[in-house]
Amino acid sequence: MKVPKITNRFCPYCNKKTKQKIKLVSTGAKRGTLTRGSISRAKSRGLGRGIGNKGKWGSKPAVSKFKRKTKTTKKTNFLYICEVCGKSKYQKKGKRAGKVLQE
Ligand SMILES: [Zn+2]
Repeated sequence: MKVPKITNRFCPYCNKKTKQKIKLVSTGAKRGTLTRGSISRAKSRGLGRGIGNKGKWGSKPAVSKFKRKTKTTKKTNFLYICEVCGKSKYQKKGKRAGKVLQE
């Protein structure tokens, strides 16, 4: 997937079309961080801290061959930065792409 570095796009702050820089942003998605019984919630509660064997909340064994990640592409996230006002707008809906090249 090829993406230009600068595009002409509508800026809601300037209320007109302006030149905008495109920046690649990581999705930063962590699955199930706030679901009930998740490790991140337990750690914020204070479990799995300190010395000794942490049991269930400690380090996990290596992921087996069959449970390994199968997806080869990632969703893209772009940040549009207006060159006139300097404000940025975030595009959430990304398309799947193996590699994103900026021209
Ligand atoms: Zn603007």
